[in-house]
Amino acid sequence: MILFQNRRGYSPLVQCEDCQWVPKCINCAVSLTYHQYRHALICHYCGYREELPNQCPTCSSKRILTLGYGTEKLEEELKLHFPDAKIQRMDLDTTRSRSGYENIMEGFESGETDILVGTQMVTKGLDFDRVSLVGVFDTDRMMHFPDFRSYERAFQLITQVSGRAGRREKRGKVILQTSNPIHPLFKYVVENNVIGFIEDQLRDREEHLYPPYSRLIEITLKHTDKKVVQASAEIYVNQLNASLKGIKIMGPGEPMISKIRNEYLMLALLKIRRNQGKLNEIKSVLQHVASEVQQFKEYRNVKIVFDVDPA
Ligand SMILES: [Zn+2]
Ligand SMILES: [Zn+2]
Repeated sequence: MILFQNRRGYSPLVQCEDCQWVPKCINCAVSLTYHQYRHALICHYCGYREELPNQCPTCSSKRILTLGYGTEKLEEELKLHFPDAKIQRMDLDTTRSRSGYENIMEGFESGETDILVGTQMVTKGLDFDRVSLVGVFDTDRMMHFPDFRSYERAFQLITQVSGRAGRREKRGKVILQTSNPIHPLFKYVVENNVIGFIEDQLRDREEHLYPPYSRLIEITLKHTDKKVVQASAEIYVNQLNASLKGIKIMGPGEPMISKIRNEYLMLALLKIRRNQGKLNEIKSVLQHVASEVQQFKEYRNVKIVFDVDPA
C-alpha cells in the first residue's frame, strides 16, 4: 500500500483550543509545522525552530491541539490501526542520507514493508509489482494552491501516484480524498483522459492569458520595512504601466506568504503575449525602471528580483 500526503512533518497546524493562538515563525509570515520526533516547531521556509510549549503563551491554557496530517502523524496513526503491519515513511526527513533512501526502497521492493507513506517522493521513479492500494490524501490542497499550474500539478501527481497501483497482471485500487468529488479534474483522472484535461486547461489559459499563450515575468520587491516595499511597488508598477503600453501587468499585491526571512514581499506579474515585443527590450525596460525607483533615497535598499517564466 502506498499512501501519499504532500506535507511532511507531524502536524501542519498547532493551535490553542481556548484562544486559537497559532505559533508563527519569527522571520516569515507562516505558521510553524510540528515535527514530533524532533519535538520541535519548525519553519519550512527559513528553518527557524522552537520547542512546542507546554502551555499557550497567550492564555496559559494547556490544551494545545495538533491539527491536520503530515506524513509523520499519518505514520503514527497507521501504526495504531495496523499494529502488525510494517510501515515506512519516505520524505525529506527520512531520506537525508543516501542509505536512508535506499533502505526504504529495498524494504518496499522486497515486500518487507507493507505500507509506504510519503510525500511527492513516492510518486516518482518507483516501479513496484505488488501495490494493491494507493491512497491520496488532501487533493483539495494541491488543487487550490494559488498558481495557474495548480490543476496541472494536481492532475500530474494524482495520475503518477495512482499509476503505482496494480501493474502487471493484477489491478490495483486508488482512493482519492477530496471535499469536492464532482470537480471535473477527477472525471479526467478516473477516465484517464489526458487529452481532455489538456484541452480544458488550454481553454482556461487562453482566456486568462497564461502560458503557453503568454510568457510571464514575475517581479518581487523585498524590503525589511513593509511600508517601504508597498510604496516602492506602487511606484514601480505605475512606471512600468507608463513605459510598457499594452502589456498586461497584474499587481502589485502581497504574495500568499508576505514575509520571508524578515523581508516583506510585494509581487507584480507581467503577461506578455507571444507576438508582443521582444523579451530583451522588455527586460531592459524593467531594469531601467528599477534603477529609477532605487534612485529615491528611501527606496535605495529595495531589492527588485525578476523571474522570467517562473516555475
Ligand atoms: Zn491560548
Ligand atoms: Zn521562517
